[in-house]
Amino acid sequence: MQRLPFSRRDFVRHVSFASLALPGLVTLAGVQACGNSEQKTSEEKEATEATGNRKLGIALVGLGKYSEEQLAPALEETQFCRLAGIVTGTPEKAEKWKKKYNIPDKNVYDYKTFDQIVDNPDIDIVYVVLPNALHAEYTIRAAQAGKHVICEKPMATSAEDCQKMIDACKKAGKKLSIGYRLHFEPHNLEMMRLGQQEVMGKVNKIIAHNGQVQSNETPWRLGKSLSGGGPLPDVGIYALQGAIYTKGAIPISVTAKFHPITDKEKFKEVEEGVDFQLQFADGSLADCKTSYNDKYNQLRAEAAKGWFQLEPAYAYDGLKGETSQGKMDIKNVNQQARQMDAFADCVLNNKETTVSGEMGMRDVQLIEAIYKAAKTGQKVSTKDVIQVLDPVGKQA
Ligand code: NAD
Repeated sequence: MQRLPFSRRDFVRHVSFASLALPGLVTLAGVQACGNSEQKTSEEKEATEATGNRKLGIALVGLGKYSEEQLAPALEETQFCRLAGIVTGTPEKAEKWKKKYNIPDKNVYDYKTFDQIVDNPDIDIVYVVLPNALHAEYTIRAAQAGKHVICEKPMATSAEDCQKMIDACKKAGKKLSIGYRLHFEPHNLEMMRLGQQEVMGKVNKIIAHNGQVQSNETPWRLGKSLSGGGPLPDVGIYALQGAIYTKGAIPISVTAKFHPITDKEKFKEVEEGVDFQLQFADGSLADCKTSYNDKYNQLRAEAAKGWFQLEPAYAYDGLKGETSQGKMDIKNVNQQARQMDAFADCVLNNKETTVSGEMGMRDVQLIEAIYKAAKTGQKVSTKDVIQVLDPVGKQA
């Protein structure tokens, strides 16, 4: 049986560590994280039996590239959930998916009939995989239809929308998590462990770069109204997160500078790239960079007694890690399968997800601060950003 990345014991230890370091830490203390399925308590067994030991049904909303190439294949490798339904505005796609994944007609919706999902007991979790500006509407409608929700990153195009999504899920008594796959990825979990536990001493400097050459394949990414921004909310968010979970702290301020626009036609509405720096309370810094016109994929920490890094750091596969003491001997895993199984475990056993709506909102708040810093040229305080941190990672 494949192991999930955290055991409850590890999580409690991590929370204690994080809580000690940050007395104002919210949301994580006193809850259980998605745990190791091999060590079920009688309480967990009862919860699983209550669902008839069936795999939870996930409905994917939006059958674009990420759903087709990553999530649907990953759902064939999950233990606690399965692809049960689809929501699409394209009838040809519906036909193709129905055949390929053996999905019955009653579990196929379009955007108009979506709300009827309320009457469908086959669907436990709605997974929103739409352009960013549509995340809020479909998360809220899914919660109102009585479904738990996974929403892709970035959570929304404004912190205000993030709050509405959190409120809707709370009101409906449903769980909400963000599609942050790297929080279940062993190399990144190792960066969290090495950094947050200061295994090589205090981390003084982090370098987090994530950029790609963006094609015109998904035009909504280059239009502000559906994307909310360019590379920063799309791929820069991984560099931002990497810095935070390696340091184990939320910055107190940010500075930023847009890259010059070299393709005026392509980058009419969104930035081509941006350099941003995170300043932490202890004086340490994270130098971050993101672009839609250059390739980089690195997360590196320089600590008092050594360094550790991943390159590539944020890809779906083929991640490689190294420290000043040698190469990391860590296997790559199916990140999306782990992420979805971890959430299904939370639903089945009434645990809190470690990649919560609050964490999604934290990142959107920080992205807003980075844009403000880049536009004004001023240092922007991030002291009011919601204080949500990751539990310290552990190699799975
Ligand atoms: P995509 O363009 O390939 O897919 C988007 C889907 O939404 C398409 O099927 C499209 O038909 C549908 N759609 C519905 N209404 C639409 C509208 N008004 N305009 C445009 N499309 C509409 O995009 P994608 O790459 O699959 O990304 C979807 C979401 O998944 C984004 O939020 C993205 O950030 C996220 N994503 C996450 C990861 C990850 O690693 N976690 C990777 C890729 C994408």
